[in-house]
Formats: sequence, C-alpha cells, structure tokens
Amino acid sequence: MDAINNIILGDNCFANTVVNRIIQESKNFFQNKTPWKLCSTSCSAQYGSYMFDPYGDIYPCLEIVGQKKHCIGIFSEGKIEWNSIKEYWHSYNVGKNLICKECKYALLCGGMCRAKEINNINEGDLTCTLYKSAFSRAINYSYSK
Ligand code: SF4
Repeated sequence: MDAINNIILGDNCFANTVVNRIIQESKNFFQNKTPWKLCSTSCSAQYGSYMFDPYGDIYPCLEIVGQKKHCIGIFSEGKIEWNSIKEYWHSYNVGKNLICKECKYALLCGGMCRAKEINNINEGDLTCTLYKSAFSRAINYSYSK
C-alpha cells in the first residue's frame, strides 16, 4: 500500500481523487457487497457542473474558465442562453476517446480529465498511469480487509 499511500498523500489533487475513488468503490464492493458503479465519464463537467465567470460567461469546468472557445453559455438579465459548445462537452464520454475506448478499465475509470486533455496537460496521462497501476493494489488492499 505504500505506493497508493504516496499517491494519496501527494499533492496531485486530481490523482488523489481518482485513487480514492478506486479504494472507496472496491471497499464498498468487497465489504458491503455494493455493485461497482460503472461510469461513462469521470467528471461532472461532462454532465452538469457549471462555472460562472464575473461577466456571466458559463464554462463546464474550473480548469477551462476564460478559454472563450469553451464557453458553453451566457447568464444575462436573469436568463441563461446555452450555445452548441455545451453539447460538445456533454456528449463526450469514454467511448469517444480513441485510447480510452480500447481500455479494459474504461467503464470503471470513466476516462481522462477532458480539460487536461484539451489543454494537452500531461497530468491526464499521469492520472491514466496512476489509475492502471493503483487499480490492482487497491483491489488487493480492499479484499484483504
Ligand atoms: S485508465 Fe486511462 S485509458 Fe483507461 S479509461 Fe482511464 S484514462 Fe482512459
């Protein structure tokens, strides 16, 4: 469990979230006999989280606020007007990523962070590597408890 603990105690917030999710799901599975939740996305940016900037522009995720091409709508005079970019974010799922759709963990993981993928931030790859390496250790850990 040292490697998993190092990940959890490290300062990569997104990786911590991913690893904690595996541990929680596997504990629920082995200890409470709760079916593992399958997910086609890994983040609420793809199904309903909204960030409003001070000008009323709406974005799907904090990482992407200010990048106008990812503005999904506008809040003005008490009303929200969505645009077609919203559908681009909300129709994306693990089956639309060429790497993820071939992955055996696809519906357990839910895929990479869309914002990091778009911004070409390697943390997306890091999270993927972490998921794959932490998965079997987290399962073994939870099973042994
Ligand atoms: S482990 Fe990596 S390749 Fe597999 S679904 Fe998750 S992000 Fe995609």
